Amino acid sequence: MNQLTDPNPGLYFAPTGIAHLTGTNTDLVRAAARGRARLRVTTAAQLNGHPHLGTVTTIMAVFALTARMADELGLPATIVFDSLENAPAEHVTIDGRHYTRTVGDLIDNGALDGVERASGFRRLLAWASARSAIAWQERPYATYQELAPVRACLHTIASRQGEFAPVLAPTDGRIRIRPRCPQCRLMDKDAHDLTITATDGAVLLDSACPHHGPYRETIHLTSTSGWCDANTPVRSVQKVALLAAERDLYNACSVSIDGPDWGGAWFAHVIAPALALLGVPVDQWPVSVFTPMVLDRTGGKLSKSLYVKYGREYADLPPAFLDLDLLLDTYGEDALEALWQEATRWAADTRRLHRSYTVDYLAALIPGAPIGEAA
Ligand SMILES: [Zn+2]
Repeated sequence: MNQLTDPNPGLYFAPTGIAHLTGTNTDLVRAAARGRARLRVTTAAQLNGHPHLGTVTTIMAVFALTARMADELGLPATIVFDSLENAPAEHVTIDGRHYTRTVGDLIDNGALDGVERASGFRRLLAWASARSAIAWQERPYATYQELAPVRACLHTIASRQGEFAPVLAPTDGRIRIRPRCPQCRLMDKDAHDLTITATDGAVLLDSACPHHGPYRETIHLTSTSGWCDANTPVRSVQKVALLAAERDLYNACSVSIDGPDWGGAWFAHVIAPALALLGVPVDQWPVSVFTPMVLDRTGGKLSKSLYVKYGREYADLPPAFLDLDLLLDTYGEDALEALWQEATRWAADTRRLHRSYTVDYLAALIPGAPIGEAA
């Protein structure tokens, strides 16, 4: 794009391989979409608080890319948002071991308000859906773990733990497929007391609660009974198995669009080897597309937890940039519109998609927002 017509003068684009390989970002999915009736895009977020600027721009980019690809391919599209209420929300140490309860557990026992917990995400998704005219649906983790392809993948992992452990748990070999105590819902985070057994038609998870002793959870393959948590690598591998299966289930081009943490090293060391172990043929691999990373002023990924821990020492940012509700209260929907416009530029231009952006760059786009010191 000519710098004179650039809406953000001053941006430079270093040459990147994939931007040269593709004429438009739709080229990333073009082959997989051939002969398919629809685009089925998934993205995910842990329900661990209010979305910050990085999460907001990722979700905007998911909708903007989907709209662009649907338009260029002439296919209808749906976005499935995996809302992960299995994120840890309470941490307990007993005899030196780490136990957790999930967001969902704390909602069930009344310690957290489920509506409040998801309201920021739902507000953002509804806004982006209306703006892009792309439909979305929410899929809680409890529903996800019941799906037949997700459980089939679980059974494959349980049956071949020796092959999957170096990929899913390279540090200690303990694959984290975690049941929870049926009485108090404490979960053994590091799977010290866990035994995973694959039988005909089920996965048996044997564990022990520090208060209530040994228990067994049975995950059936042909019914939805049983519940288990999966840590990030396990869930991520189950997800690609699900997306591969959904190609035929929905006659869809299955695409996952996620933040850039899940590209690069994660894709190379976890997803690609797992797809090979699962035996998914290359022409059935789901397509993965990654959104730009939002950087703090030191070049790291913008982190809400670091901001909460170190405050202005970490980043001298208005709190609104770390909390969507505050952002909307302070700057109104003009802020969302400004970020949407930016996301549509990422979707339209390969060089803009395969790039990172600093939080100061994004702040400068928001009408009325103070711009901090340049990095
Ligand atoms: Zn217990």
